[in-house]
Parts: sequence; structure tokens; C-alpha cells
Amino acid sequence: MKKAFFAKAGQMELKDVEKPRIQAADDVILKIVRTCVCGSDLWYFRGINPVKGGEENSGHEALAIVEEVGDDITTVKPGDFVIAPFTHGCGHCTACRAGFDSHTDNFSNGVQGEYYRFAHGQWSLVKVPGQPSDYSEGMLKSLLTLADVMATGYHAARVANVKAGDTVVVMGDGAVGLCAIIAAKMRGAKKIISTSRHADRKALAKEFGATDNVAERGDEAVKKIMELTHGAGADAVLECVGTEQSTDTAMKVGRPGAIVGRVGLPHTPKQDMTTPFYKNTIVAGGPASVTTYDKAVLLKAALDGEINPGKVFTETFTLDQIQEAYQAMADRQVIKSYVVID
Ligand SMILES: [Zn+2]
Ligand SMILES: [Zn+2]
Repeated sequence: MKKAFFAKAGQMELKDVEKPRIQAADDVILKIVRTCVCGSDLWYFRGINPVKGGEENSGHEALAIVEEVGDDITTVKPGDFVIAPFTHGCGHCTACRAGFDSHTDNFSNGVQGEYYRFAHGQWSLVKVPGQPSDYSEGMLKSLLTLADVMATGYHAARVANVKAGDTVVVMGDGAVGLCAIIAAKMRGAKKIISTSRHADRKALAKEFGATDNVAERGDEAVKKIMELTHGAGADAVLECVGTEQSTDTAMKVGRPGAIVGRVGLPHTPKQDMTTPFYKNTIVAGGPASVTTYDKAVLLKAALDGEINPGKVFTETFTLDQIQEAYQAMADRQVIKSYVVID
């Protein structure tokens, strides 16, 4: 089977490797039909995370057909169509039952290939009715966002307790930030301030529910957002970038007692905690509870056409074009690269 590897920073390569086999009783072997490139994959591609060469791809979002199941698996069977989330919650521990199924470090890695061994498949895989051929490509794109970015955007809005009538600021105009706008709207936010500097992303933010946009950064952004909230600050801030500057701005634009929902992977371990102290800011967030959200609300909303997060995929590639798929995202020519595997 074919699978993508990092040859070096900036260079992907496809290698022929052995098809994975069941190793544990709760393993599921998946035949990947759709995958994509995540913003976090670019950390390796850009060399921000060191790449020695030869590491398997860090892809972790997929739609798949169940190929084979371990002895303990009763929830899916060969031939089923599933969403493969990047998280592998067990579904029965205290954390999973509390709705934090990303408690384990066992995240997907390496799904940009023809087959994948998915650990803890019993509860984590999300079964989709029918087969991929029953759906439009647009719907498949929306279902694929349920493996990560839509659920991650939803996580930001949930941990920030976004509720009806709220004013919400969304930091970041990547796929996660755009999906966080959808989530804020689903939860009834009245005013949603996006933070885009690109015409296409700003337009999609508006289509997804943003009511205002701030293109400024740093102190200028804080000033503009405070103006837009009549000096009060937002009820909730969804931080979908992870840089020090973005997180710093997020801490400054909430009202006293606001909640900052963080889902942007932090780039730096340090953060000023004095500003949030004097503002009584609640800081929440982390890896998303993908399976919980998919099963509870997102799968139905996508299938009913209430949300259309698949629009974040602005270009389609094949597995053979994996280099182009990464490069287009690294160059910010596309919002998110969609990869079709036959
Ligand atoms: Zn991701
Ligand atoms: Zn668990």
C-alpha cells in the first residue's frame, strides 16, 4: 500500500509499505477513502517541528471503510462507512463519560495512506449511515471536517460556554477558526467577530455567521474589538491559532469573567497570566472531544444540511499529489487541502 512520509522539511514522499494488521483486540483496520492536510501537519512540513527524514505523515483526519475488526469490536463491522476522529477515547472512563474523550495521548498519526490501524475503535469511530457513494462530494467534505476541525471549533465554543445572545470573538481564520464561527452560531451567539485579513476567508467567515471582522493584530486588534463591543469586551473568546500574540490578544478582549476557549496548539509554553487574573478570565480548552460532539450534535447537523463546514476545503488532490496538497496550504493558496484516495 501507498503511504506519505516526510522526506525532509518541505518535501513529502510516497512509499510502498506493508498493509497494517490487527495488533490488539480493539483495533480496526480502515481503508481510507478521504483524508486531508491539517494546519498542525505544516509544523513538520515547515520544519518548525524538527524532521530528520523518513518520519510517517502526521495526518489524522479521515473518512474510511472498515476493512477488518479486532475480536472486541462490536460497534462496527467490515464494510461500514466511518468517520475516523483524531482522538481515540475509550468511551467508558471518567474522562470520556464527562465528555473529554481526548484524554488519551493516543491520537491518530499517519492516516495519509491507503490503510490505517485505528486503535480503540470500539467507541471512537463514528458510523455514518450508508456508503460514501450515497453522498455528494460536498457532503463528504463536511463529514471529513468532523474528524477534527469542525469538532475542534465546536470544542472552543463549548468550553467557552457560548450561549444564546453572546458576543464572541474568534481568533484565527484557518479551518478551525472558521468552524468555530459555525459552532458559535449553532450555540446562539448574537455577535460574532472574526479576525481575517484575507478576502476569501473573510467572505467564508461571514457566510458561516460572522457579523463583524477585525483585520488588525496586537494592540490595534484589542482597540478595535473593544470599540465593537462598546468598551465592554466579549462574553467568550475562541482562540484558534496558538501563537503567543493571538493568545495574548484573546486574554485582553474578553469582558471581566469571560471564558477563553483555547484550541490553537500552543507554540510557546509561556503565557502572561497577570492580565487574565485582573479580569477574572476563565481559561479553558485543549484537544477536542471529537467523538462526543459528532455523536451528540455534529453528525446530525451536517447530514441535515444545517451546517456546511466542508467549504473549508478549497482544493482537491489525489494521494499521488500529497506534496502539492501540503505546499498549497503552506503557501496559504488554499484554506484546507482535501485528498481523495481511490
Ligand atoms: Zn488537526
Ligand atoms: Zn476514556
